[in-house]
Amino acid sequence: MKTDELREKYLSFFETKGCLRRPSDVLVPRDDPTVLFTPAGMNQFKNEFMGIGKLEFTAATTCQKCLRTGDISNVGVTPYHHTFFEMLGNFSFGDYFKREAIHWAWEFLTDAKWLGLDKDRLTVSVYKGKWGFDEEAFNIWKDEIGLPADRIACLEEDENYWPASAPSEGPDGVCGPCSEIFYHPPGVDGDVEIWNLVFTQFNRVGDPPDNLRPLPSKNIDTGMGLERTAAVLQGVSNISNFENDVLKPLCVAAGDVVGVKYEFAAPQGRAIRRIADHVRAATFAMHEGVMPDREKENYVIRQLVRRALLEGYLLGRKDPFLYEIVPAVVDVMQGAYPEIGKTVESVQNSLKEEESQFLGTIERGLSRFDRFAEAAKSAGSKSISGDDAFTLHTEDGFLIELTEAIAADRGLTVDMPAFKERMGVHEEISRGGKTVSVMAAGPLDLLRKEHGDTEFVGYEEATCDSRII
Ligand code: ATP
Ligand code: MG
Ligand code: MG
Ligand code: MG
Repeated sequence: MKTDELREKYLSFFETKGCLRRPSDVLVPRDDPTVLFTPAGMNQFKNEFMGIGKLEFTAATTCQKCLRTGDISNVGVTPYHHTFFEMLGNFSFGDYFKREAIHWAWEFLTDAKWLGLDKDRLTVSVYKGKWGFDEEAFNIWKDEIGLPADRIACLEEDENYWPASAPSEGPDGVCGPCSEIFYHPPGVDGDVEIWNLVFTQFNRVGDPPDNLRPLPSKNIDTGMGLERTAAVLQGVSNISNFENDVLKPLCVAAGDVVGVKYEFAAPQGRAIRRIADHVRAATFAMHEGVMPDREKENYVIRQLVRRALLEGYLLGRKDPFLYEIVPAVVDVMQGAYPEIGKTVESVQNSLKEEESQFLGTIERGLSRFDRFAEAAKSAGSKSISGDDAFTLHTEDGFLIELTEAIAADRGLTVDMPAFKERMGVHEEISRGGKTVSVMAAGPLDLLRKEHGDTEFVGYEEATCDSRII
């Protein structure tokens, strides 16, 4: 089944269940200060979940453009993490709840009329942890769906509570247990998580044990990875998203532009996957007017562009080339998002300009990095000093994430506390004495909690998946 067909099937299945089909929200929300990019389908419905304003509808379904900066270092490394990806979702605002959400998910996945996946290859998880046991979900899966108990994992907060966080740390607000659905591909070790059903049924207020107040209306928020599910349905080799009908052609096009024949298992495979992913993300963000630059979402896009550029540079392409891949992105994505066809030229021009700028210092930066690495080694250290990382950042445009990635490739680390300290001083100088303290790693909303509404020039920490290829 093609990706386009899967997207359409999902949305029309949930329409048959009474959900209103809504368009994807933008990738870069301008009126939500808690996120730089839309990380999930539920974000456009925050007000509906909170019960703010008049409800125009109580059940919806979408395919949402998402970007997760926390997954940047996973890209190309795990088979199924992207920065930009599409999340299918169905939502309820006090309409249907847990029983329907589970039954419909199962029907969509296994009924031959819809996806027709082999039931024996599906497992699920439910929440069991500090705040109790979601016995209701467990029993629905076991007694009503008929899944054997040994295929229902009971997992704690980190995996099966949304948002996951220690009870005393909050955040306050709507939350609830979730149930994830995994597919076990034939001939592959391990499972791939394809769908997360979140039962937002509590308002978290203050500290435990009595801090979970049942909400007057119970909500549903689900997210299914489009690329992952397409890869599963297409039975692609290695069950890598990058082998599906959208991403494989994009990888091949990226390989052609760089002058390398793309093959999944080839030594250059990882670099090409990263280039393909990052150009896709940059194309969508730049289509929305987010150009590579120094701060916030612009900084993230600069980071993606420079990383991708460096990958190609190391493969031998020494002049701007990312912009040449943009038409391939448009080719594979414009069926669903025809609007991106309208900005190809301006996106290409801006991208090329950004590329030329960084290419001007890339060679110098690389040799400077080599010198720093040698010096660290001679001094018996496995770490690039904060001062050296700072020099690379300010003199050569090597954003810290880039330096960290190059260092990691060579078995080195970067002295981040020292770099952040140095950077804090630098920011203070460049802003005429205004103290900017946010250089820490962590989600933006937590940073805001800690530091107030300072300007974001920082970085999110990446998590690494257990299935590394
Ligand atoms: P994982 O544990 O694999 O990182 P997750 O639990 O962080 O996934 P959710 O927040 O539950 O993901 O998002 C809902 C769904 O979106 C996931 O089940 C998955 O199918 C998809 N998804 C999440 N992150 C990514 C990503 N970086 N790239 C592609 N698909 C993703
Ligand atoms: Mg994740
Ligand atoms: Mg998960
Ligand atoms: Mg999940």
